[in-house]
Amino acid sequence: MVRALLEWYRVTEGSTAYARVFDGLTSAERAELGGDAQEILAGAWYDARIVHKVLENVFGDLDEAKRRSFARDAARQGMRPLRTGIYHFVAQQILSPRLYARHVQWLFRLLHDTGERRIEMGDHEALSITGNWAGHHPILCLLVQETTAALFETLGCKDVTVEPLRCVADGHRDCRCTLRWTGE
Ligand SMILES: [Zn+2]
Repeated sequence: MVRALLEWYRVTEGSTAYARVFDGLTSAERAELGGDAQEILAGAWYDARIVHKVLENVFGDLDEAKRRSFARDAARQGMRPLRTGIYHFVAQQILSPRLYARHVQWLFRLLHDTGERRIEMGDHEALSITGNWAGHHPILCLLVQETTAALFETLGCKDVTVEPLRCVADGHRDCRCTLRWTGE
């Protein structure tokens, strides 16, 4: 997820802004990200501390509304390979929001080494609950919400909106949000 975000950031904001993403990282941390930190390794897990610093460099100066729209754009961009051609056809044939919801814990753990996630499906809405996530960061949490919304749209839901309900960053036991859509 972080890799897709950074690739989107590099393309939309340009290489000067992109270079600043790595400000404040020690040389050891840059090395862990991969060489000069310009090439983030796909599929690798990074220390939560490093991910948090990178996210703060990207989102730190933005207000709440701008953070969400930024996360939304990045998530939509990250879904692009799934929205075109044969991938879109296959995704729509074999995947559905309900199937995704059923397997969300397993899928979450492909991307994050801790955390418990579940999605309770309702009628044109879904409750997303994430807890016990040691790598939690409010911006990562926002990206999880918007990525789920973007995926639901890719799988056929129309006009998906996210209503954040609560977050461990505000002292709650888990993070919750409601996704709503108009049609499938
Ligand atoms: Zn949260």
